[in-house]
Amino acid sequence: MPLDPYSIREDFPLLKNRKVIYFDNAATSQKPRQVIEAIKNFYEQFNANIHRGLHRLSEEASEAYENAHEVVAKFIGAKSYEEIIFVRNTTEALNIVAYAIGLYDLNEGDEIIVTIMEHHSNLLPWYVIAKLRKAKLKIIGLTSDYKLNYEELENTISEKTRVIAVTHMSNVLGTINDVKRIAKLAHEVGAIIVVDGAQSVPHMPVNVSHLDIDFLAFSGHKMLGPTGIGVLYGRKDFLVDLKPILYGGDMIKAVNFNGKSINIKLNDLPWKFEAGSPNIVGAIGLSEAINYLNKIGMENVRAYEESFTRYMLRRIDEELKDYVNIYGPRDVNEKGGIISFNVMNYHPHVIATMLDKYNIAVRSGFHCAQPLHQYLGITQGSVRASLYIYNVREEIDYFIEVLKKIIKELKE
Ligand code: PMP
Repeated sequence: MPLDPYSIREDFPLLKNRKVIYFDNAATSQKPRQVIEAIKNFYEQFNANIHRGLHRLSEEASEAYENAHEVVAKFIGAKSYEEIIFVRNTTEALNIVAYAIGLYDLNEGDEIIVTIMEHHSNLLPWYVIAKLRKAKLKIIGLTSDYKLNYEELENTISEKTRVIAVTHMSNVLGTINDVKRIAKLAHEVGAIIVVDGAQSVPHMPVNVSHLDIDFLAFSGHKMLGPTGIGVLYGRKDFLVDLKPILYGGDMIKAVNFNGKSINIKLNDLPWKFEAGSPNIVGAIGLSEAINYLNKIGMENVRAYEESFTRYMLRRIDEELKDYVNIYGPRDVNEKGGIISFNVMNYHPHVIATMLDKYNIAVRSGFHCAQPLHQYLGITQGSVRASLYIYNVREEIDYFIEVLKKIIKELKE
């Protein structure tokens, strides 16, 4: 086994405190004690605001906060901490890119390409900015095996394309998109590529330099870190010229008043994009989560989840095929540990509620990807089971037995 989920489980207090089979990892992950302790330690030992005070506590807090930028940069293969901007979450990161690019660099007739598998947070900001700037939003569909239609993408890209915004891993289908290939296509026409890494960064090695992508967004809370901290990676060449959309304290070097008016000098990277007091403890918690994942190794995380997903798909196919309809690629080489499905014609909330009675936590509904469900002709949404490093085979076995029981109950 690439990793030992049984010993990993020991680090997660909630999994001991609560009787739960936690299959809602795509929504948020559980937290290891190392992260919880890092947060506690910050508040007990060096809580202060950063960059402002000359006192020792502030210096220590600043150092830890800056170090967190370095840890993230290294984790995703960025060239420097200057390319790492801390934000609240993926949603905020994607909105910042869309507005910063859209308000200053998009014009009437320009085209933005997204895919039908986007989470609302990588769809709606582009939809709004396209309307504001009179740009066109083009939406790429899927093939019959739930993969991105690359042929359609290639035919849609043109000299008018300014941005391609795409998810690295679908939060519904688990489909892993070939963003390296898409980046190449984007760059050939001088467009930029923005990648939603909310589901990929926690579960597989992601290296922005190898992928050659321009922007990457992800959330700490889905990768063992705390809520309220997320990352926007931006290629330095772009960030240097990009204007912030949030103004105020900390993002400014000087604000000069000449008696009548003011002029401003923006701060250096990445601070010019981090207006106001940041989530210092969140960044520290996230860097501890990354340390934890690094110890396991992201290759191992991916390999474990691949074999685990294969096992779950096989069990459903062999034992429940007549009652359970799975949405997503069957080839686990191109799929993350996200399995969305429906049971007969029952509403997904009915199934999720029944699973909860057996202490199995899954998500049901549209998973913030309503257009994708509509595109696939799924009117009521779906049930989603999503896995992580602390899930074990026995949980899948139990899940399959419970599903069988539920189906039997519903049929009677
Ligand atoms: N994109 C994807 C693919 C996601 O799965 C999610 C979370 N469900 C988001 C974006 C939004 O993440 P957050 O709520 O942390 O902003």
